Amino acid sequence: MARPLAEEARDALRAARALLAELAEEGVDEIPGAAAAPAREERAAPALPEPGAGAALLETPPARPRGERPSLAEVRENLGECTRCRLHEGRTRLVFGDGNPDADLMFVGEGPGEQEDLQGLPFVGRAGDLLTRMIERGLGVPRSEVYICNIVKCRPPGNRTPLADEVSTCRPFLDGQIDAVAPKVIVTLGKPASSLLLGREVSITRVRGVWHEYRGIPVMPTFHPAFILRQYTEQNRRLVWEDLKAAWSRARPG
Ligand code: URA
Repeated sequence: MARPLAEEARDALRAARALLAELAEEGVDEIPGAAAAPAREERAAPALPEPGAGAALLETPPARPRGERPSLAEVRENLGECTRCRLHEGRTRLVFGDGNPDADLMFVGEGPGEQEDLQGLPFVGRAGDLLTRMIERGLGVPRSEVYICNIVKCRPPGNRTPLADEVSTCRPFLDGQIDAVAPKVIVTLGKPASSLLLGREVSITRVRGVWHEYRGIPVMPTFHPAFILRQYTEQNRRLVWEDLKAAWSRARPG
């Protein structure tokens, strides 16, 4: 028996709302090619401070002169068994970073998920597998040749977006990692990491694929691999692929 039209319309609306909510979660607040951008509900807990009170938190610290670069081991030691914010309460292992301490290309993600928390390594779950495939099969570079870390080093409960105070508490250690590795190019994965390094709350759809700079280092924002897994379209994969190719050619020209 045919379903009433109103019921079908309600189901379609529900599905569309769920998709928009998912996209908004990933920081996508504009659908390319759509006539009007969907209104994005404000999050109850913003990933970054609002302008004003939060502006100081987002001020970019100056880059350290080359001779004063810390080592990754020093940064890790300063971090210690960190209890500076509430995220330590739920962690199994702190996830500092992984890869080449002299990498030309650095990836910055959002925060550890379940697998990362268990293993103490960034990007080792499903999203990590995709990132690793993009690096190794796409760029043809061993994962161990790049450096990978996150804006917060402990898993947020239920994989929620890290809160502003958690991000700002952890930020000196991310800056320390950037100082220590001194990459030629940074790729930010998703909205929270891109917003932090670009110094303002961004729409990832608008900033991805466009070069920015953080403390003198070129930054290429792109979609988070978890978003690609959820929206596994040819277009999304192509866009990320273009961003990664651009980042790698700038990090290793010729
Ligand atoms: N997502 C992230 O942003 N970072 C990880 O390490 C894993 C998943």
